[in-house]
Amino acid sequence: MTSRKDLNREKKELLDGVLAGRISLHKLDSMTDKRTAVMIRRFALEETGGFDFDHIQNFSIDVEDASKRNIENMIGIIQVPLGIAGPLKVNGEFAEGSFQLPLATTEGALVASVNRGCSVITRCGGANARIFRDLMTRAPVFRLENVIRAKEFTEWLQDPAVLSRMKEKASGTTRFGELVDVQAFVTGNTVHVRFSYDTKDAMGMNMVTIATDSVLGLIEDEFGAIPVSISGNMCVDKKPAAINTILGRGKTVIADVTIPATLVEERLKCKPETMVDVNYRKNLLGSARAGSLGYNAHAANIIAAMYIACGQDPAHVVEGSSTITTMELTRYGDIYCSVTIPAMAVGTVGGGTNLGTQRDCLRLLGVSGSGTPPGSNSKKLAEIIASAVLAGEISLVGAQAAGHLAKAHAQLGR
Ligand code: NAP
Repeated sequence: MTSRKDLNREKKELLDGVLAGRISLHKLDSMTDKRTAVMIRRFALEETGGFDFDHIQNFSIDVEDASKRNIENMIGIIQVPLGIAGPLKVNGEFAEGSFQLPLATTEGALVASVNRGCSVITRCGGANARIFRDLMTRAPVFRLENVIRAKEFTEWLQDPAVLSRMKEKASGTTRFGELVDVQAFVTGNTVHVRFSYDTKDAMGMNMVTIATDSVLGLIEDEFGAIPVSISGNMCVDKKPAAINTILGRGKTVIADVTIPATLVEERLKCKPETMVDVNYRKNLLGSARAGSLGYNAHAANIIAAMYIACGQDPAHVVEGSSTITTMELTRYGDIYCSVTIPAMAVGTVGGGTNLGTQRDCLRLLGVSGSGTPPGSNSKKLAEIIASAVLAGEISLVGAQAAGHLAKAHAQLGR
């Protein structure tokens, strides 16, 4: 590893230029190769701060690629511990079989808890998983003259010939994406138009933003409506929102399992009826009383850990947190458990999925890159994550029903 005193003349000049304020940190990318730019930035921070970094300079991912697609002003890599939970049997339409779940987290006890849930689910035949909707959205906002014009605009948008021209326009920007649906919402003279796309294996936010931008050109030319912003916050990206829980955004995924009472007692050390009661009073009543949009115990924990491991955009944990967990007794006294995740934004191409460490985790799940047919890999990933969330919910609700939560954390040293 090069140290500051080993720098050759050319690199030393760059460092001196940065320290003297002649070269701004972001300009380095265009003045040298990406790996050197990363190093000079780090050295400049060390010189200025009077300390040495110990860890962030140690990594194996491709700096050229990351600097081009994923990050600006790169100085190194943050390492997050990666654990494994499983095997988890999943009976999905796209994910069929047993999976070892990669979970990147710093929360002790999380992996152990999910692992316990996986073992229970797998022992009773696996989690069923199904996708009910799969469309990524972008919703620009328009200001019209008045309500008369706003009504004309919404009627124009509903014209099948207009929809077909908008689809054609969008398809000119992407090989894989497809505009499927357009919905308008009017407030006074303001019109939000929610465009929904099938994005196949891409999570799709860049794809739908580029496609929608081209459709805006058509709207301006043909109807004369000028957008105020390409995103009018009815998309809704990375903010908790009822519209996403009702209409869906990304993938709407549901996973469920029925666990025999004997297995609940043996593995979770409690009774099905106690879990049902905890779920009702905590996840349903408690969340309703708190005005929460998430009716679950800790869905975001599992989603965050799998998103970080698998190169997903971690900010989309917000959408994933609006999960609804149900638990009910069957007529035989067993327990039926489900998780409904209305808005899961995931992809197996693009974004952070190209980074080496993240690609390793996607490969572990057999979902790296484009699926055959396109779209099947991202759907498989969504079914696996939903099943993992189910495992997490069963384990945590079980622990609370058994009064074990604090004890488990204490035993694991926290
Ligand atoms: P992307 O990396 O921008 O693009 C993925 C591209 O992969 C697609 O556009 C497609 O190219 C290509 N592709 C190859 N095989 C494919 C397949 N089987 N299915 C689908 N596409 C395939 O990724 P993205 O998913 O559109 O966007 C994700 C990124 O957007 C993340 O980094 C996220 O952080 C960021 N993001 C952006 C916004 C925004 O407003 N722009 C908001 C939130 C997050 P073609 O389109 O040419 O076919």
